[in-house]
Amino acid sequence: MRWKQRYGWIGLLTAMAMGSAMATTAAPPKGDVLLVPDRVWTADGDAAHTGWAVLVHDGVIAAVGPVDTVKAPANAQRIALPGTTLTPGLIDLHSHLFLHPYNETLWNDQVLKEPQDYRTLEAAAHARATLMAGFTTLRDLGTEGAGFADVSIKRAIDEGMIPGPRMFVATRAIVATDSYGPGPRGFRPDLDLPGGAQEISGVDEAIRATREQAGHGADWIKLYADYRVGADGSTQPTLSLAEMKAIVDTAHLSGRPVAAHASSDEGVRLAVEAGVDSIEHGYGASEATFRLLKQHGTAYEPTLTAVEATAQYFEHYVPGQSEPTARMKEAERAFRTALKLGVTIGNGSDVGVFTHGDNWREPANMVRDGMTPPQALHAATNVAARILRQQDKFGRIAPNLRADLAAFTGDPSTHIDDLQHPVFVMKDGTVYRTPQATP
Ligand SMILES: [Zn+2]
Repeated sequence: MRWKQRYGWIGLLTAMAMGSAMATTAAPPKGDVLLVPDRVWTADGDAAHTGWAVLVHDGVIAAVGPVDTVKAPANAQRIALPGTTLTPGLIDLHSHLFLHPYNETLWNDQVLKEPQDYRTLEAAAHARATLMAGFTTLRDLGTEGAGFADVSIKRAIDEGMIPGPRMFVATRAIVATDSYGPGPRGFRPDLDLPGGAQEISGVDEAIRATREQAGHGADWIKLYADYRVGADGSTQPTLSLAEMKAIVDTAHLSGRPVAAHASSDEGVRLAVEAGVDSIEHGYGASEATFRLLKQHGTAYEPTLTAVEATAQYFEHYVPGQSEPTARMKEAERAFRTALKLGVTIGNGSDVGVFTHGDNWREPANMVRDGMTPPQALHAATNVAARILRQQDKFGRIAPNLRADLAAFTGDPSTHIDDLQHPVFVMKDGTVYRTPQATP
């Protein structure tokens, strides 16, 4: 690897953790590591197991069970994690590495004023913060005007050039003509503004945009089923059913799933009918529409924290002090409805609207709004892995899965807020954070 010699700190950590002199590469480190926390939460079942240990061999989970039953080779590196619970590496299914909080810079100003080069460097820093927080996988749902730069971030992470989570990227995302920002409403009509996503009108353009994005490296296709295009600024459907079907059929032919931004009842219903694989936000969806998700097996990412964060920035909401805002209550109602009906709920936060590395807020909010702590952890591990079609690679602590692991002080399976205190992170067998040597 080109970057092998340059990033000494990862190599140093790897060497310390693995007891080898090997510097970082894209290949998982060789050797055995025995992890000994107080508890292990495997994602099989709901309870954490006290007194369990996990053995990692060449980047793969080799064994998990009571510490006296896990047979580690004599030369295995032993990492003690006292006071912690070890979990699968966490997954956030809705991130924007190319955005930063709107109370720092409004979305319009980020897209219009920040050069793509600068945004890409920011995204690299955000990727690192995410990984250090115990999130080893992200589905990043659109660069918001930064083109295909997410494909480069993913590549740099995969090559070991920069630390970051496993990335599933959507590139530019697809919107209906003049339905997405910046503008055109509110700007001089003769301005040619850069788009926050790729605009299409008609089935042919829908097919073309899907193929272009797939060809340039999109793992998922993201479309916007609705947006604030009503004459009164209300959220209304944007892409037609025929356009969305064309996107879904084209994406599925190439083996790619489709995620739909949709928050109005009609927008969600049309997107589900078009055959998308996940609904993002869904705040305004009715019980009948959530039943449709359940019937179709469509996943749902509630993005509760995006609503909370915008309430903080623009409606003077203070967590733990203020009454929830009307928008927060609407999001909570949707979430509780989906939960009651047994819709597949994945952990997707819309991080980027709020600070990267604070991804723990979404599982915490899911518990605030009615999930048990184990349900929220499942949504961020094995359920999320299944939504990504990666359940055979990661998402649980089980033999033969990749060694994506995190440890948190306390026990998030009983106190979800303990996710705020990561002390250990391993991705694909490489240690990025340990209590002994935190970068
Ligand atoms: Zn988003």
